[in-house]
Amino acid sequence: MCGIVGYTGPREAGPILLAGLRRLEYRGYDSAGIALLDDVGDLFVEKRAGKLANLTTALADRTPHAGVGLAHTRWATHGRPNDLNAHPHVDCTGEITVIHNGIIENFRELRDGLEARGHVLTSETDTEAIAHLVEEVYAGDLADATRAALRRLEGAYALAVMHRAESDRLVGARMNVPLVVGLGEGESFLASDVSAILEHTRRVIFLEEGD
Ligand code: GLU
Repeated sequence: MCGIVGYTGPREAGPILLAGLRRLEYRGYDSAGIALLDDVGDLFVEKRAGKLANLTTALADRTPHAGVGLAHTRWATHGRPNDLNAHPHVDCTGEITVIHNGIIENFRELRDGLEARGHVLTSETDTEAIAHLVEEVYAGDLADATRAALRRLEGAYALAVMHRAESDRLVGARMNVPLVVGLGEGESFLASDVSAILEHTRRVIFLEEGD
């Protein structure tokens, strides 16, 4: 269980997210990744096994211009610590992006059901199932779809989700893994731990279980 950072607002999301991940490095991790949505809804994803430096090298210190994004450090529980299994994970349509810390206990049953219904899962993780479950119920409102998908999960999670059609919005949820919301001036943050966002805001909401 490592780290989550999310940002939505008027500033460049990429550098804010990478700085947030650096502040979460102390928690330990085996892979890191980032997803950015630009204002026309184009999605950019980069993820790498190993140190955060592997990710920043892959990005060549340039992140696309974007006001919304998610970033993650992984401590593998389901699936090897490789590039493919690193988060973010995306659904079949490429519209929905998910990062997650924790363990989905009923992942085998969920993955089998999704595959039987025609979904193509490209990683070995428990997390990827969440992206496809949100895909199945999405009807125009990401918070509603995430709530409905989470009813199917057993286990522990802090997670963050975004959708290309709602490109100023992040949805977060917590069950037995910490997640905080940071409130800025016209901008908002999600993070595993306040240390990731304290340089930007002191107004923080500590989510409760089930929020
Ligand atoms: N269970 C997920 C995985 O193995 C998340 C692990 C974590 O908490 O980083 O990808």
